[in-house]
Amino acid sequence: MDYDIAIIGAGTSGLAFARSLSGTGLKIAIIEKMPEAKLKNPDYDGREFAITHLSHKILNDLDIWHRIEESEISLIKNAKVLNGDSNYALHFSHTEAGEENLGFMTSNHWIRKAAYESVKKAGKIKFITGTEVVGIETNSNGGTLTLSNKKKITAGLIVAADSRFSKTRDMMNIETSKLDFKRTCVVCKMDYEGAEQDTAMECFHYGRTLAVLPLTNKRCSVVMTIDTDKADDILSLSPEELAQDIEERIDSHLGKMTLKTKLYSYPLIGVYANKFYGQRYALLGDTAVGMHPVTAHGFNMGLRGAHTLANEIKAAQAQGLDIGSISVLNAYHDKHRKFTRPLYLGTNALVKLYTNESKPAKLLRHGLLKLGNRLKPAKHIITNLLTETGDKAA
Ligand SMILES: Cc1cc2nc3c(=O)[nH]c(=O)nc-3n(C[C@H](O)[C@H](O)[C@H](O)COP(=O)(O)OP(=O)(O)OC[C@H]3O[C@@H](n4cnc5c(N)ncnc54)[C@H](O)[C@@H]3O)c2cc1C
Repeated sequence: MDYDIAIIGAGTSGLAFARSLSGTGLKIAIIEKMPEAKLKNPDYDGREFAITHLSHKILNDLDIWHRIEESEISLIKNAKVLNGDSNYALHFSHTEAGEENLGFMTSNHWIRKAAYESVKKAGKIKFITGTEVVGIETNSNGGTLTLSNKKKITAGLIVAADSRFSKTRDMMNIETSKLDFKRTCVVCKMDYEGAEQDTAMECFHYGRTLAVLPLTNKRCSVVMTIDTDKADDILSLSPEELAQDIEERIDSHLGKMTLKTKLYSYPLIGVYANKFYGQRYALLGDTAVGMHPVTAHGFNMGLRGAHTLANEIKAAQAQGLDIGSISVLNAYHDKHRKFTRPLYLGTNALVKLYTNESKPAKLLRHGLLKLGNRLKPAKHIITNLLTETGDKAA
């Protein structure tokens, strides 16, 4: 075998997984279709992540977090959720959670850059870049990957972190539930002139959903979700028209706003693999669970999954067991499914309800928000998801 583990995809999940295993002595390769220069300096892609305390801890432990400039990190102290055209809001506060903040914000490209640097610094992990995995075959001993440059790579275990649209998952015939929301997420950054904010806003307006997330220096991430066949209503606006539209939708809460980046759009497809492994093959990150972004869990889950799988592998290695065996992969599957399944289904149910504009649904939407403010245990579960750092992930 060329490697003990071959990882497909150097997104945040693949890189964090590789970094978690540095120091184990395992021979590891990461295959990424982008050129290495893009891993060193990834392009900004509009995605700003709300990061949980557990992810923050894992990123610290992996020597990734401190590589991100402080000026690129903001703290979410409070969050509020609004519904329809009402001003009534469901509130979450860091003081209720007994923490300095509910979560952190930084962008996908800064995490990718920091993760790449950390893996490079740790050494011993081979990057095979600028070539795509186009074929995969596995047997009871390991797997063979065929690359677009015609080379072949063999490894005892293949780990696929090749996005929610993974081709290798399909080649391995892993049954996967796919949910096309028929909606598109359009994201950008805007500056505002009002007072500096540390509150994340999620507005389930009728017709579209709008999230405004605080960044540093009076800048915010604006996330608009709309039916795909109406996405042009947003994409065709001039920068001034769009800024004015957002200002109006949040009642000028942030004062005058100015568009600072281009618009990035993402079609929203949820995926959930029925099994997170096949023979000598494991699924990681969005390849295993591709979430709707409204509950901001995709990246966080990917990181948690990388941590869980790496811990199972390290435990097997310490006992002299086969790290690619079914029992190791199944242990990862059980733990990761237990955590991700309720969140995946819960998020999809939330999206279904808060995009339903029938009269009963509108009443239920409003009622649930009110109940949420009164039901302390429900609030506690949500804030706990953001702020817990316990090693339940392992
Ligand atoms: C608008 C938006 C906002 C979001 N906000 C949040 C948030 O606030 N919080 C949160 O937790 N999550 C959020 N997410 C989700 C988050 O973006 C994803 O869960 C996360 O980026 C997935 O990372 P990954 O490494 O699993 O996959 P990806 O980032 O998709 O990386 C996959 C990598 O594999 C490579 N690749 C693919 N195929 C091959 C191949 N055949 N051969 C070689 N390489 C290959 C790709 O080039 C890529 O580098 C958001 C998503 C969107 C769209």
